[in-house]
Amino acid sequence: MDRAALATSLLGIVGRDHLVEDPEVRAGYERDWTGRFGGAAAFVVRPADASEVAAVVRACAAAGAAIVPQGGNTGLVGGGVPRGGEVLLSLRRLDGVELVDAGSGGVVAGAGATLAEVRRAASAAGYAFGVDIGPRESCTVGGMVATNAGGVHVVRYGSMSSQLLGVEAVLADGSTVGRVPAPTKDNAGYRLAALLAGSEGTLGIVVRAHLRLVPADRERAAAIVGFADAARAMAAVESLRRGLPSLAAVEILFREALDLGASQAGGSVSLPAGCDVALLVECAGPHGVSAELEGAVEALGDAALGTAFAEGASVARLWRLREAVPEAIAREGVPHKMDVSLPLGRIPGFERDVRSLVAGLAPGARTILFGHAADGNLHVNVLGLPPGDETVDDAVLDLVARSGGSIAAEHGIGVAKVAALGRHAARTDLEAMRALKGALDPRGILNPGVVLPA
Ligand SMILES: Cc1cc2nc3c(=O)[nH]c(=O)nc-3n(C[C@H](O)[C@H](O)[C@H](O)COP(=O)(O)OP(=O)(O)OC[C@H]3O[C@@H](n4cnc5c(N)ncnc54)[C@H](O)[C@@H]3O)c2cc1C
Repeated sequence: MDRAALATSLLGIVGRDHLVEDPEVRAGYERDWTGRFGGAAAFVVRPADASEVAAVVRACAAAGAAIVPQGGNTGLVGGGVPRGGEVLLSLRRLDGVELVDAGSGGVVAGAGATLAEVRRAASAAGYAFGVDIGPRESCTVGGMVATNAGGVHVVRYGSMSSQLLGVEAVLADGSTVGRVPAPTKDNAGYRLAALLAGSEGTLGIVVRAHLRLVPADRERAAAIVGFADAARAMAAVESLRRGLPSLAAVEILFREALDLGASQAGGSVSLPAGCDVALLVECAGPHGVSAELEGAVEALGDAALGTAFAEGASVARLWRLREAVPEAIAREGVPHKMDVSLPLGRIPGFERDVRSLVAGLAPGARTILFGHAADGNLHVNVLGLPPGDETVDDAVLDLVARSGGSIAAEHGIGVAKVAALGRHAARTDLEAMRALKGALDPRGILNPGVVLPA
């Protein structure tokens, strides 16, 4: 790479203010949320719009420089930060959100618009947005498309890919693909929006997305329900999924996660002694959801050991306990995070096995479990491991694969799970992924080393 020539090109495209030099400002782009991943970028560049993104990509392609796209930098697998020497391309300035179809409910959002901005635009138009995740003030539409973000409402609305009517993206040669705004129904050829969802910046750079909106719920009610063990809690999840039409979310918190969340949030839930696991259940709908939720919890019978109900504004207080868990863990140290999914019925056995596996490999390490129970999605957090040592991570992911689950439920592969994907994906699947990557990015300049080995 001719560094000086590339600097001149980038300066000509974005101007001095957006080719970031200040080391303190750069640090925010070069280190990830967990503190576990990061490196020095060759340049940190912040284009203003899609045409500047395309020009930056063309300049990098001409120089043979690798690009790491970044949105809100809340990713948890190290895919959005430099490893060393790449051009860090921040999409945050592409932050417009515009209602395009009040009749059917749709917004067009720039890649850098935050989830909170999309939610506010949806709400102003009398709608809601179907995906919600904790870091909503920071994570961006581009990052959420690129990771196919899941979150707490997947049980009702699906993940980010289910909200996509269209995506516009810049490919590795600087060309632009995708139609935005998109027709509400469109099967004209391969679905590029679906291909880009979950591609983690390795196939194209998302610049805009057309997102569908969902009806706004007038009422909301939630409960934290305690159980003696995971088997009883997961049996309850199955029965809630089957019999509760207003079900909007079911989160699981094992005791240590519940206690950490409560201490971080400065609140508490009084569950009787003997509750080793709790579910946070949320119902939403036009009317009568509190009664529906209370009836469903009552129907769980003796399995439910204690319940804290909330409706209206108090629902947010219960959610705060859950959303504080990742922050509380980060406060305790740099965690190894394994985001996995399992068939619902396998979760109790997995919980036992993963605890004894970690205890055997790293006596003294702390295993903290929580996640999106309705999707069989557990976040396995282990504190007290050396940051660069993958022994526990590998063993946990191998256990997941043996248990019939997925080694990457919603955070993606990033750099953290490249080797694990290589071990666990079918050979033919990996070949198809390599063929796609080779076709769209033959020189491998888009986020090299993420998803597939560089
Ligand atoms: C406290 C906390 C809670 C979280 N909870 C959830 C959760 O419930 N569910 C969930 O799914 N995730 C969750 N996450 C993970 C994270 O928020 C999501 O992965 C989110 O979608 C990342 O968005 P971002 O804008 O921050 O992307 P970044 O972190 O900036 O990037 C993530 C990936 O997307 C790529 N990328 C970013 N922007 C673009 C673009 N415009 N075009 C192409 N590629 C791009 C990056 O290269 C990287 O590979 C959580 C994270 C935190 C810190």
